[in-house]
Amino acid sequence: MKLSVIGTGYVGLVAGVCFAEAGNHVTCVDIDKAKVESLQNGKLTIFEPGLEHLFERNLQQERLTFSTDLQTAVQASEVIFLALPTPAGEDGSADLSYVLSAAKDIAKALQQYTLIVIKSTVPVGTADKVRDAMQAHAAVEFDVASNPEFLREGGAVEDFMKPERVVIGIESPRAEKILRELYRPFVLSGNPILAMDRRSAELTKYACNVMLALRISFMNEVAALCDNCGADVDHVRLGMGLDSRIGKRFLFSGIGYGGSCFPKDVRALVQSGEEFEAPQQLAQVAHEVNDAQKKVLVQKVLSHFDNDLKGRHFALWGLAFKPGTDDMREAPSLVIIEELLQRGATVSAYDPEAMQTAKVLLGNTILWAENAYAACENADALLIATEWNSFREPDWGTLKQTLKNSIVFDGRNIYSPEVVREQGFTYYSIGRPVIEEPCA
Ligand code: NAD
Repeated sequence: MKLSVIGTGYVGLVAGVCFAEAGNHVTCVDIDKAKVESLQNGKLTIFEPGLEHLFERNLQQERLTFSTDLQTAVQASEVIFLALPTPAGEDGSADLSYVLSAAKDIAKALQQYTLIVIKSTVPVGTADKVRDAMQAHAAVEFDVASNPEFLREGGAVEDFMKPERVVIGIESPRAEKILRELYRPFVLSGNPILAMDRRSAELTKYACNVMLALRISFMNEVAALCDNCGADVDHVRLGMGLDSRIGKRFLFSGIGYGGSCFPKDVRALVQSGEEFEAPQQLAQVAHEVNDAQKKVLVQKVLSHFDNDLKGRHFALWGLAFKPGTDDMREAPSLVIIEELLQRGATVSAYDPEAMQTAKVLLGNTILWAENAYAACENADALLIATEWNSFREPDWGTLKQTLKNSIVFDGRNIYSPEVVREQGFTYYSIGRPVIEEPCA
């Protein structure tokens, strides 16, 4: 099939590359000229495991092209995916201006029946709004479908190529037939394509993300209780996770969720609840708990250093909002850095993939280390904000020599307290007992 993907960010680029890999001819359109030029020249604009190889192959085989020319792309396409931003507006509701304005431009360009598929995460009722916005400008027949994307950054290619399910919200058999055909190669192992009405499809995406956010915020509240009552959240988590009604995933406590999805989607569901007079109180609380959680690690630092961080220097391992990505949107590391700087401390940071994206946001407010151990030189303590695999088995000897004090504040619970104890470190984590450095 001939496809266009409008918006070539984390979702649009992965979708475009994977659809091309399945044999389709895909044009990825973006308004960002520099991004399009870089992609045209064979240079990826995001880090995503497994993407580069597929990108290069499909570029070489001329199934994948990049353009800023929306009109030409639209006129050459049978299906157009919208993978545009839907950021949170001031009141938390999803800003639909990118989606609605592109929809209008697409409508003006249409020359034959085309299926428009909303892949962006959009509040319930958006497909109707897109149809209305297009209706006034389109001279030909078209359908609008909802096809929320469930990929996880860091595992996006695998998730896209082998989805657990594909959700399609459709209003016509024609649209359903096209989408079933398009997704057939991705569900050969038998995973289902769930066809439903568009509002249900739109809401499914929010319900998933808010459920996952709730689990994280719930476990972070349990961890706070563990910290205060002397229990160990790891034991509690394992005991819970083996209950098949609960399951093991998304029960890890830490310094809160970030990224481009959970924070905004939780707030957007709260807004939809207000709009449709069905208050989403649990989503509201998940959001509040998460905001507070991003500060928990610095509270532990403050309490260790008698509430005075002036002149202290800290090493920070991990900047990306989670491992496997260079995405810094709503990363807890940003809150940690701000809290430390505000209190007169300095920070030296290292991240395996997110240094460039982080530099754009943080400039020279912090020091940028060349590697993990360089970040630790003369630091009063090491803080861990992202659970990259490369941080999981550090050279404890080098760490001890490099840090000024043998103290680790682990915001992601990546170390075994026993190992840290053996290595002679003071160790703070989330919801687990503090390990005190043995007296010399
Ligand atoms: P992104 O910011 O990485 O990419 C969006 C792209 O759209 C940018 O490259 C931007 O330049 C481009 N753009 C903006 N206006 C445009 C226009 N008028 N024409 C063409 N291009 C335009 O965003 P993303 O992370 O890919 O997310 C896109 C949507 O997918 C959002 O609704 C998001 O909630 C949803 N989503 C994201 C993820 C994720 O993991 N990132 C997962 C599932 C769903």
